[in-house]
Amino acid sequence: MRIGVISYHSSPLMPAGAGTSGGMNVFIARLYKELARWFPIDIFTCGSKGTVRIGKNLQVIHHDHSLDDFADAVIKEHQSTPYSLIHTHYWLSGLIGMQIYKKLSIPWVHSYHTIEVFKQITRDKTRIEIETDILKKCHYVLSPTRREAFDLAQIEPHTKVMTIPHGVETHTFKPSPNGHDSLLFVGRVDPIKGLEVLIDALGLVDRDVTLNVVGGAAKDRSAYVDLKSYGRNQQINFKGRVAHDRLVHHYSTAGIVVIPSYYESFGLVGLEAMASARPVIAFDDTGLVETVGNDAGILVSRNEKNLARAISYLIRNKERRYELGLTGRKKAVKYDWRAIAAIYRKTYEAIAKT
Ligand code: UDP
Repeated sequence: MRIGVISYHSSPLMPAGAGTSGGMNVFIARLYKELARWFPIDIFTCGSKGTVRIGKNLQVIHHDHSLDDFADAVIKEHQSTPYSLIHTHYWLSGLIGMQIYKKLSIPWVHSYHTIEVFKQITRDKTRIEIETDILKKCHYVLSPTRREAFDLAQIEPHTKVMTIPHGVETHTFKPSPNGHDSLLFVGRVDPIKGLEVLIDALGLVDRDVTLNVVGGAAKDRSAYVDLKSYGRNQQINFKGRVAHDRLVHHYSTAGIVVIPSYYESFGLVGLEAMASARPVIAFDDTGLVETVGNDAGILVSRNEKNLARAISYLIRNKERRYELGLTGRKKAVKYDWRAIAAIYRKTYEAIAKT
């Protein structure tokens, strides 16, 4: 087995939590670190750093090329030492997958990470067309939730869509006593993350509450500046991006983690909160339904009043925060990266035989 991974626009070497670097970077870094215990993996990404070896079996290969030339570079690598399969991540890498698919007959697996047609805001028509084309052409799609897999199968019933959830490092994100009543938001400060809805909700909460916002500006920096000014009458601390391995402290000093996103394909922050035994408050139309569910937090239908009601309730009920956190931790253990990587290993092995 030898796996070729394409992650064109974002490298696992990039720190998560600002710009375009978020859950996908964390996902690729953690998954392939685990899988490299079993077989060699090359991760292709755009950049000029050459080849960076990050383990015995794992290297990140940078190419500063257009999409077509990038595909040729992967094909050249395959011709010298063949890959058992190619796994593309995100639609830009899917475009490269389409070029490779035309020229090679090896299994092509695709993961979307976000799917434009399912977003509730900012839909890009060209991207929707390209993502539909990828769905028709690739051999397998791996989706982190059953719901997303089901929705994709409605669009293209012929493509084989399989569900494997993302993982969490349960030895890093660990429970600690929850005596706090502050709220925590973790993520890129991007319009899709719905922070303004949370700020509106804070204005409706019936007692003083502090919100800590961990995460840097997304690609468009103006959203960050606008939100700071929008939230100026609330007790909000904008802490900026925090290195992933230093996030533990922020989860352990929070009482409740709020994820007000318009869209979460999966939502790694939900799992990190659960592993840290912190209850999650979020909307009930995102991927968090399959991780947080109704016993590791409170998922409400989408409006700021419901969000405010859930926040007020959990701030008043320390006991309930504890129960939800405890259940979250129990559930999160099943998502440990080692267990999730073992499912990927079996899946890759089965696909490589096709
Ligand atoms: N993150 C981080 N530092 C920050 C903010 C976020 O390491 O300052 C990480 C966070 O812990 C999570 C990821 O970025 O692992 C965000 O993933 P998620 O799936 O929640 O959102 P996405 O970025 O994929 O939309």
